[in-house]
Amino acid sequence: MDFSLSEEQELLVDSFARFLQAEIRPVIDAHEGQKFSGEIMRDLYRRMLPYGMGNGLVGEELGGYGMDEVTFGLLFEQLARVSPDVAIMALIQAEAAMLLADAPEAFHGSHLQALLEGDLMGCIGISEPDVGSNIAEIKTRAVRDGDDWLISGEKCWISNGDYSDFIVLVAQAEHESGQGLALFLIDRDMGYTTTDIGKMGLNRQSTAQVFFDEVRVPGSRMIMPPGSALKRMLTLLQGSRPLVGLMATAMAGKALEHSIDYARDRKQFGKPIGANQLIQARIAEMSVKVESARLMLLKALHLIHRGQRCDLEVAQAKWLATESAVDVTRHALAIHGGNGITLEYPVQDLYRAAPILTVTEGTAEMQQLIIGRILLDLPAF
Ligand SMILES: Cc1cc2nc3c(=O)[nH]c(=O)nc-3n(C[C@H](O)[C@H](O)[C@H](O)COP(=O)(O)OP(=O)(O)OC[C@H]3O[C@@H](n4cnc5c(N)ncnc54)[C@H](O)[C@@H]3O)c2cc1C
Repeated sequence: MDFSLSEEQELLVDSFARFLQAEIRPVIDAHEGQKFSGEIMRDLYRRMLPYGMGNGLVGEELGGYGMDEVTFGLLFEQLARVSPDVAIMALIQAEAAMLLADAPEAFHGSHLQALLEGDLMGCIGISEPDVGSNIAEIKTRAVRDGDDWLISGEKCWISNGDYSDFIVLVAQAEHESGQGLALFLIDRDMGYTTTDIGKMGLNRQSTAQVFFDEVRVPGSRMIMPPGSALKRMLTLLQGSRPLVGLMATAMAGKALEHSIDYARDRKQFGKPIGANQLIQARIAEMSVKVESARLMLLKALHLIHRGQRCDLEVAQAKWLATESAVDVTRHALAIHGGNGITLEYPVQDLYRAAPILTVTEGTAEMQQLIIGRILLDLPAF
């Protein structure tokens, strides 16, 4: 087993990391504590396109870079280290691009091309106020009206929602023998509206409610027929969970680095606090959690790249990475003492952001249930 990066991966990661420090970090620092406007997010997205953020996983024949999942993950991890908020935006762009790649060809020349060139921002609408872990219960409805569809309902927690130009929407659509979950591609100017949601962390990017009040959509905008959307969404989540996990380990890794620096500098009882065994125990636990989760995530991405079924490995890795990030950032806060809770030190920001990743793209409990179901061969949900 070879754990080293290829020469190409090393070059890519190194040049992206240098680009992020030179070009993206200053924008982030200049907007300390503020939500990025749609214009800034678009600008950041466009600048990162040459490094595959958003377009990396789409095949070359469709205008993407055709990257393997591990290489994409390594680059994405670099971005998450600099800004988890911008990383969420890039992740959603990448997911939207993958869905558009599966859409009928007519939308490749329009939406996919524009997304890959940085001219469109998308979002993905699955969750609703009353529907989270159980996607099958989605209530948003698409009703036939001549050649069109009329869409009504409300989506919740939609990343990129506020500055999206289009939404890839999961809705219950009528068909001959009842109704089923279908996928629609809906432009903002067709009539959906959004309102941003305030959160405990990760507030520089948009998480929004999206409203549909009998929005009229041409028949051609159903990009996957009733009955097919649930499976497609579950596959999409399978691919994105390790990336959410890498965001968590990137954040936890930053918290660890800040903690090491602080524990070496801060003196109490005449010596650095890091020279106490209890502080070293925290640092040791933090480092093991970051490193073990990262290895499991990269393994999951490797299996996805090889086309192997890996529900177990993905769920284990996502659970460990996100739960560990909560633990690691809590330890970081403790190591920083009173300073840790002040806005001057970055660990409080990481501490408030970490629990959010245990929820998004499938909660920690849902990962446990997937693991339990596979290992016991007994479904508990
Ligand atoms: C920052 C952020 C960004 C997001 N972005 C998007 C997006 O872009 N698009 C989108 O569609 N959605 C998005 N989501 C929504 C996200 O996918 C859901 O929040 C998530 O699936 C959980 O759904 P819920 O919040 O309704 O929780 P619920 O499903 O109501 O769960 C509440 C609690 O009950 C637990 N629970 C539920 N069922 C069971 C069970 N059977 N056994 C044990 N425990 C159970 C859960 O684990 C959780 O702890 C985002 C969420 C966040 C926080």
